[in-house]
Amino acid sequence: MQGITYSRNVFIPVTDLCRNRCGYCSFRRDPENARAIPRSEAIDLLVRGAESGCSEALFSFGESPWEVPGFERIMARSGRSDLLEYLVELCELALEAGLLPHTNAGVLEEEDLRLLAPYNASMGLMLETTARVSAHALSPGKSPELRLEHISRAGRLKIPFTTGILLGIGESERDRRESIEAIAGLHRAYDHIQEVIIQPLDPKPGTPMACTPRPKPEEILTTVRMARELLPESVAVQVPPNLMDPLSSVIAGANDLGGLSPITLDWINPERCWPDPKALALRLKGFSLEERLPVYPRYVLRGWHGHKTRCLVAALAGDGGLRRKEYL
Ligand code: SF4
Repeated sequence: MQGITYSRNVFIPVTDLCRNRCGYCSFRRDPENARAIPRSEAIDLLVRGAESGCSEALFSFGESPWEVPGFERIMARSGRSDLLEYLVELCELALEAGLLPHTNAGVLEEEDLRLLAPYNASMGLMLETTARVSAHALSPGKSPELRLEHISRAGRLKIPFTTGILLGIGESERDRRESIEAIAGLHRAYDHIQEVIIQPLDPKPGTPMACTPRPKPEEILTTVRMARELLPESVAVQVPPNLMDPLSSVIAGANDLGGLSPITLDWINPERCWPDPKALALRLKGFSLEERLPVYPRYVLRGWHGHKTRCLVAALAGDGGLRRKEYL
């Protein structure tokens, strides 16, 4: 029976301050309403995540928040001045709690990636699209060149990496193909892409793109088939099961369902609940649902995960690199 993987995570929004203004975003806050997560709140989430059987701490935040006026004031409220140093501290707390960090912090300089890599089992950045779309007109960080360069940088540093494309933001089918081909090209160069997310836009009320139609299921499945055809077999194709029927996705060629959290929201699509893994396993007739770590088995076996995560990965991973059964 074909295995379909997922990970169990706790989603920690480190700050919702962001230099970009994507037309579909409901996560970002203006400086007067933005926050950085207090240490005590992060610890509470990490402890509850570990108690709920999670293996992953997903740290996510708006891009380059330090460029936004008011950043220092927001950081001061959590008693910190340097966000990346604070993130390292949160990663250390995650490891102490028994969770493997996976950070998606937007486009970063190489020295910042080097700072974070040792503490992370894997890292990520959505490419979204190689097209220039009006949804990104106010988002300097969504320049395709910058994002492709960031993904290359991660490859040069041998960081197991998650990326993906966002469907329905104004790109064409040809753009989707070009985006997936660009990811496949970077993987051929560095061999570091562990999964590619095919994520449909879920328009949010109150955003400039609230009335944009959601991509149709057939369009999503066509893209999943395209990704499966263009990407090497070793790169997983992931479709979030809270945004698309999971059985249709796996029949079309997806072989991963991403991070599911027993205790935290999908902060990007907070009204879309995660399915329970047991219910998901029943739904996936003809496939077997298997739990993985935030780092995929072949990078576990190669030892590419950050060196500070080695002991915990060794404790959590079974012989084949998936999550050890006794931890389930
Ligand atoms: S980069 Fe992310 S957080 Fe920032 S505006 Fe765009 S979608 Fe929102």
